[in-house]
Amino acid sequence: MTGFETLRLDGVTRRFGDADALTGLDLEIRRGEFIALLGPSGCGKSTALNCLAGLLPLSDGSIWRDGTRLDTLPPERRGFGMVFQNYALFPHLSVRNNVAFGLKMRGVPRAQARRRTEDAIRLVHLEEHAGKLPGQLSGGQQQRVAIARAVVVEPSLVLMDEPLSNLDAKLRLEMRTEIRRLHQNLGLTTVYVTHDQEEALSMADRLVVLRAGRVQQIGTPEQVHTRPANRHVADFMGFRNLLPGRSVDDHFKINDLGVRVSGTSVGEIHKGDPVVAAIRPEDVLLRPGGFEVTVEVAEYHGREIAAEVRTTDGLTLHLRTSQRLAPGDKVGVDLPADRLLVFPA
Ligand code: ATP
Repeated sequence: MTGFETLRLDGVTRRFGDADALTGLDLEIRRGEFIALLGPSGCGKSTALNCLAGLLPLSDGSIWRDGTRLDTLPPERRGFGMVFQNYALFPHLSVRNNVAFGLKMRGVPRAQARRRTEDAIRLVHLEEHAGKLPGQLSGGQQQRVAIARAVVVEPSLVLMDEPLSNLDAKLRLEMRTEIRRLHQNLGLTTVYVTHDQEEALSMADRLVVLRAGRVQQIGTPEQVHTRPANRHVADFMGFRNLLPGRSVDDHFKINDLGVRVSGTSVGEIHKGDPVVAAIRPEDVLLRPGGFEVTVEVAEYHGREIAAEVRTTDGLTLHLRTSQRLAPGDKVGVDLPADRLLVFPA
């Protein structure tokens, strides 16, 4: 194992032909951190991870472990562990031998290898399954084998590419907690690729939000959740209402509604500029006396109703409420200033 204090990506760029899959990624990963690379399909997450792993050469930029250049080293000399979406277990080897494989390859003495293997198996709660073949295990158990196999060699960095995406919803939640717990117990530095913002928010110390190969924002879950850097991040982070408007004096006018709202400006906005006002469905308030909307769709979600409503000038708004609503109802709504973000259009 080669430990490090910081791992630095410096302008990491990868092209395929003349298409830019990843452009100028700058990122400093500190030892022990859990970093999530987050963004929609095709935004460059896997490309970034594969560049880090050494599975893809860079088109431009460099990667540094403390003072040492890393991107010129082959994958096996970087000392990283990898966990993929499809597990990539050896089908003909038992759980125990799958986990022990990396130790054997590294020539770890037998007694020590056996002890570390059993420790890793215990860590992921697979003691009772150690003698089975991967084909005899559930998806979640196989994924745990993959994790044990990656961490048993005590890698300086673990790279995970959507490791939970093949699991059902309940197991995904359990494994989230389990990976997070492993991360804490072992102090593993982790880079985790996902397109699931909830997964990223609940697991990571810091999020790197990508779009079309470019970093949109790097920040803590709270920073990215409450103060997305631009409208694209806002959209991705659940600000489902993105309303066109214009900046006037000290407030904003939405569309042709004549509704004046206030909010927090994110980015530079001048008087008269077109803007996009963003608010989450759960932050839209129903209030008699607010501006009038007509309910178009009301979906029952157990504790609350998710509704789609239309404003008098034809904008669609999404909201969530515990109030019973039915299509055709006319209600008043408010967009609270402390929940509204305003971006340059
Ligand atoms: P997903 O969540 O769907 O896996 P991603 O964010 O991981 O997506 P990447 O796999 O990094 O995205 O791909 C980024 C871009 O690079 C995409 O437009 C993709 O089509 C392109 N790309 C990736 N690998 C190759 C390749 N081997 N050859 C050509 N283009 C590629």
